Amino acid sequence: MINEKLTEIIVDLIHDTAVNLPADVLDGLEGMARREAMPLGREMYSCIFDNLKRAKELNCPICQDTGVLQFFLKAGTRFPYLDDVEDSIKQAARISTKKIPLRPNAVESFDERNTGDNVGSRSPWIEWEMIPGSEDLNIGFYMAGGGCALTGRAKVLMPLEGYEGAVKFVFDAITEWGVNACPPLIVGVGIGACAPSAAALSKKAMLRPIGSHNPNPKARDMEERMKKGLNDIGIGALGMSGTESVQCVNIEYAAHHPATLAVGLSVSCWATRRKSITIKGSGL
Ligand code: SF4
Repeated sequence: MINEKLTEIIVDLIHDTAVNLPADVLDGLEGMARREAMPLGREMYSCIFDNLKRAKELNCPICQDTGVLQFFLKAGTRFPYLDDVEDSIKQAARISTKKIPLRPNAVESFDERNTGDNVGSRSPWIEWEMIPGSEDLNIGFYMAGGGCALTGRAKVLMPLEGYEGAVKFVFDAITEWGVNACPPLIVGVGIGACAPSAAALSKKAMLRPIGSHNPNPKARDMEERMKKGLNDIGIGALGMSGTESVQCVNIEYAAHHPATLAVGLSVSCWATRRKSITIKGSGL
């Protein structure tokens, strides 16, 4: 059932996310722009900030590709409107497509027909996590652009490839495809037991705030060394060469099989549009 108040809140969340970058991503970009050593790279950062300023002035999306709409829900088992959430998200996608507007980005697989309203089979994408005893609903939202999704992949490495194999996997993908993802990039790496779990962990890592680190000192060391190595390649903002190409490398992991290690990669672009909101069950 569609809950009008909930739908309205979700439309506002989508609108704010489409138009304004989250504070940590913006701060990160400003720092990178200050540090960029190459003139062309500095020029690209200037274009990015001009783009952001105009989007704010015009109250319109910061990129023409408003992505596939993805929701990550942490739902209290006592949230009173659980049954309304999925229908309200779909309705919010329909309204947002016209109102903001969003580019229609839901093409029905096999039929190859654009639905025109960003609603299709399993789209918007919704992932649920249930929080026992809570009355609140936390809605995490991400707009997944096509260019940055292009770089995503997952693989189970052969025995003995180990962490070196995981690093090579990430570097090969970024050097080959990273330029399509409109750098500077946010890189999420998942380490796990199989391709689906490594891919899911890489997405979780990619959505982590800029400046956060994995609490495991070895994983944190790998995050920092990979970030430095990827920046040393010199891809630069929007692929025009430069010293500042990667905002962060975030790693999340799970235990893996004794013989094999799976690695997943998720990448987001300079226009990393993710936000979240918590709704009190008593507040609707
Ligand atoms: S990769 Fe990001 S910035 Fe580039 S076109 Fe896609 S959504 Fe826009």
